[in-house]
Amino acid sequence: MLLEKERKKVIEIALNIKKEKLIPLTFGNFSLRDPETGYVCITPSGMPYDTLHPSDIVVVNLDNEIVDGERRPSIEMPLHTAMYRKRSDVNGVVHTHSTYCTAWACRDGGMPCITSEAAGLVGGKIRCAKFVPPGSDGLAEATSEAIGDDKVVLMGNHGVICIDETIDKAFNDAIIVEESAKVAFVAYQMGEVNTLEEQMCEFLKEDTDKNYGQK
Ligand SMILES: [Zn+2]
Repeated sequence: MLLEKERKKVIEIALNIKKEKLIPLTFGNFSLRDPETGYVCITPSGMPYDTLHPSDIVVVNLDNEIVDGERRPSIEMPLHTAMYRKRSDVNGVVHTHSTYCTAWACRDGGMPCITSEAAGLVGGKIRCAKFVPPGSDGLAEATSEAIGDDKVVLMGNHGVICIDETIDKAFNDAIIVEESAKVAFVAYQMGEVNTLEEQMCEFLKEDTDKNYGQK
């Protein structure tokens, strides 16, 4: 089977996303790019994640053509391939409808940066792309434009997308941003909130990129 190890990795991430309660039912979609072939392994459309076999993961190229697999790929395939085309540094894409991120995506103005973890991830406020119907080419366009050089962007009235060097990192980003969205929600219920200044957010991002984790 083509890219069997990579297909298994996509299933592992889908199951972990489910375990972390970042998605109900079969919402969301996940993919990785194999740096050697340039092919993308993506979850199929509308199949329960706990029933997936590696052959259910669809292998596609950046022109949205199926290279290997019998299943229909996620309807958000154009969104994933748009990210890979735009960003050569990205090899993992995690798109969820996690509750708190989606709630922030239903408001104007994105999500304010109030936790050091969110600042370390994005370096400032988390922007929100305008609403475009799910599965459309317009969604891929609007989202890739809004994400710019960042790792995370909210998708208007829809959800959130995290992109990173690997799918494991994009998964971690999805956890961090949902946790930060939850904290921001709670903090705003409590009254006036101290947001982090832009310069401090930028410092925290640089510091996280340089010093966090093992060499
Ligand atoms: Zn979605």
